Amino acid sequence: MKKLILVFSGPSGAGKSTIINYLLKEFDCAGLTVSHTTRMPRDGETDGISYHFVTKEKFLKMVQNGEFVEFVECFGNYYGTSKMAIDDVLKHKDICILDLEYEGAYAILNDEKFKEQCVGILVLPPSYNSLKQRLMERNSETSESLDKRLNDSFKVKKIAKYQFVLINKELEISKRKIKDIVNNLKMAKV
Ligand code: ADP
Ligand code: 5GP
Repeated sequence: MKKLILVFSGPSGAGKSTIINYLLKEFDCAGLTVSHTTRMPRDGETDGISYHFVTKEKFLKMVQNGEFVEFVECFGNYYGTSKMAIDDVLKHKDICILDLEYEGAYAILNDEKFKEQCVGILVLPPSYNSLKQRLMERNSETSESLDKRLNDSFKVKKIAKYQFVLINKELEISKRKIKDIVNNLKMAKV
């Protein structure tokens, strides 16, 4: 099978991590990149697994050294995918999964080096209110960061770049849909 890069994007709280975690359980051939970020770890997040949590100085040094395929400043913090993060996954796996906000997704889906092997999947909530409720129930945000996330939630850049749009309403249905999508992509890439 040829190597595939799945680029997940969508509003914070839409359910990207939930769906990606399901895929990682279902498909042994899939792995998730570990991004770098300057944001603080949340409860339950582990350095080197959830993210590489780094200082702003370290992040900017990596930018200077050209270590990132893409990086952005988002919600007041930096996030970036290093070349090494993608290589590390594709060394052992056939499918590399990225979870990126809109600018980063656009950058990689448009990148001459990567676009041939990339498939964009936009995950959306069924409504603005359900997104707000999910973010509040996740209990991960301050009221300030919740506002930032909600304000930016539908500022999707170039929707046409995404091959699939998944409206994540009933989780069980979303799981079935994403499994079908990945199985079909695997067959197409053989
Ligand atoms: P994202 O990674 O896009 O920020 P998460 O996967 O963290 O979103 O999901 C946000 C919250 O919504 C989590 O608490 C998750 O358990 C919940 N969630 C995910 N999918 C659904 C769904 N289909 N219906 C209801 N809640 C959901
Ligand atoms: P969170 O703070 O909720 O973990 O992530 C906030 C946003 O940053 C999410 O939309 C997530 O998809 C995005 N993100 C995580 N890692 C990266 C990355 O390496 N690059 C880009 N562009 N976005 C990222």
